[in-house]
Amino acid sequence: MRNAPSLLAMLGETEPAARPVVMPWEYVKMRRAAAGMTIEQAARPYWHRPEHQADVERNVRELETVGFRMQRHFFGADMSRAYSFNLDVYRQLCDTPPEQHPRLCLACGWDQWTTQYDTNGNDATWSETDPDRCTRCEQLERKKVIT
Ligand SMILES: [Zn+2]
Repeated sequence: MRNAPSLLAMLGETEPAARPVVMPWEYVKMRRAAAGMTIEQAARPYWHRPEHQADVERNVRELETVGFRMQRHFFGADMSRAYSFNLDVYRQLCDTPPEQHPRLCLACGWDQWTTQYDTNGNDATWSETDPDRCTRCEQLERKKVIT
């Protein structure tokens, strides 16, 4: 007697598509871009004496350099004084394998534990039409198409 084909075989053995992996440096850059800030503006809360400005700006720029991961014992990666930034998310992107990464909006880096408002002033949530977007980015993209 022949075995019946498995359900997966009948469906063509399609696996769900893997979600794109967000790298730590991409997360930092997406969050800064979502705030509409330059590197200089993002660095401003972290220096008080003019002679420190260049160093701080270099450190902030380094966070966005491809391949750069801040070591665990440094606290210099916390950009939350400048813009909406979740240090726990950043650490997870640095330290855990992709399957353990938190779900992020692939346009702005928003995570569901971070308060963010959509363009109507409501709490952002996940888009119903695109699982990789928050409602704020979905609205911004729709406006771009219209204008
Ligand atoms: Zn978004």
